[in-house]
Amino acid sequence: MTTNPVALITGASRGIGRGIALELAKVGHDLVVNFASSADGARQTAADCVAAAKAVGKTIRAEICQADVGKAADRERLIAFSREQFGRLDLLVNNAGITSIGRRDVLEAREDEFDALMAINLKGPYFLSQLAANWMIEQVKSNPAQRPKIVTITSISGYAVSTNRGDYCMAKAALGMMTRLYATRLADHGINVYEVCPGVIASDMTAPVKEKYDQLFADGLAPLRRWGTPEDVGRAVTALALDYLPYSTGETINVDGGFHVRRL
Ligand code: NAP
Repeated sequence: MTTNPVALITGASRGIGRGIALELAKVGHDLVVNFASSADGARQTAADCVAAAKAVGKTIRAEICQADVGKAADRERLIAFSREQFGRLDLLVNNAGITSIGRRDVLEAREDEFDALMAINLKGPYFLSQLAANWMIEQVKSNPAQRPKIVTITSISGYAVSTNRGDYCMAKAALGMMTRLYATRLADHGINVYEVCPGVIASDMTAPVKEKYDQLFADGLAPLRRWGTPEDVGRAVTALALDYLPYSTGETINVDGGFHVRRL
């Protein structure tokens, strides 16, 4: 069994998940790098994490694992893989997610697209958290000094309306409640649960709308007039992983350049 803390990050082959993995590597976490279909991306993340850790004098191990978080059997396999490889889990980061499939107006939305998104963006994190939480409870029983955590990446879309992405917005809003449910249920086990709520972050997901948001940022969309980066999100998750917010749980950490601040 490893002596490093272990983090499982869903959807870490690219974008925000990759950024989270890199930051956790630098503080000495072993990693399970999950992906859906980008095996090359996941391998690259794992190799870059090992190198990033080494550059700051740390030795970590990063293993990749293909699993579709929307599928029950895959979630089971992902947890079993983490157990076999590392024998412990200190942090689950529910990051994997997709954007609204058809990006249709709410008056045109389709049930098949709704179901596909909900499976990945909501059902996946809910039941993966359940598997991880039960394993974490076991671990804390045998080692009360361990303080495992669950972090879920939500979005400003959980409260800011986009009428052409209703399913995405609703899933993200529900993940906020999921965070508070697990935070409450797991508090007596010493397991803190957080929501990290990014604003507009540069990644493949937002690449198609780059020009629109370049303009919006220039016009003052958020007090901090720049795009967020995967590193910004990774640093917030790392602060939680390092237990810098021990007396906070069920908490929302906004990583949005101040977007959430109401202004007149
Ligand atoms: P991205 O660049 O599109 O990357 C998505 C990641 O999720 C990839 O690693 C992908 O794996 C993985 N993934 C997709 N479906 C999966 C599935 N069924 N099972 C396992 N992994 C799956 O997206 P991103 O911008 O980094 O977004 C990451 C998270 O942050 C999402 O939950 C998103 O909603 C949230 N978020 C993003 C922004 C933003 O502005 N970008 C803002 C707020 C919140 P493959 O590479 O194998 O496809």
